[in-house]
Amino acid sequence: MSLEIDIHEQSCRGCELCIDICPTKVFELDTEKRLCVVKHAEDCIACLSCAYICPSNAITHTDYHAVKNFYRDAEFCQRMGKFL
Ligand code: SF4
Ligand code: SF4
Repeated sequence: MSLEIDIHEQSCRGCELCIDICPTKVFELDTEKRLCVVKHAEDCIACLSCAYICPSNAITHTDYHAVKNFYRDAEFCQRMGKFL
């Protein structure tokens, strides 16, 4: 079993917060659908920052081991204000 990342398409609003916060660039934006997609699941370090920050609760991980430090970027967190 290995880590899987799922994005619930009907919930995703294409805000790109997950793309911006992911430290290992796992996501990309599908510009046609205006949805984010998982491009490099193998690079995920299971920090769960994306699932935490997603305003639509659209991201789920399965079979992960949360052993890495939570990733925070102070400048990025300031930009989140408009979503709170
Ligand atoms: S943070 Fe959530 S709503 Fe925003 S692009 Fe990512 S999956 Fe979609
Ligand atoms: S859990 Fe962390 S490393 Fe994995 S996709 Fe989300 S933000 Fe990126």
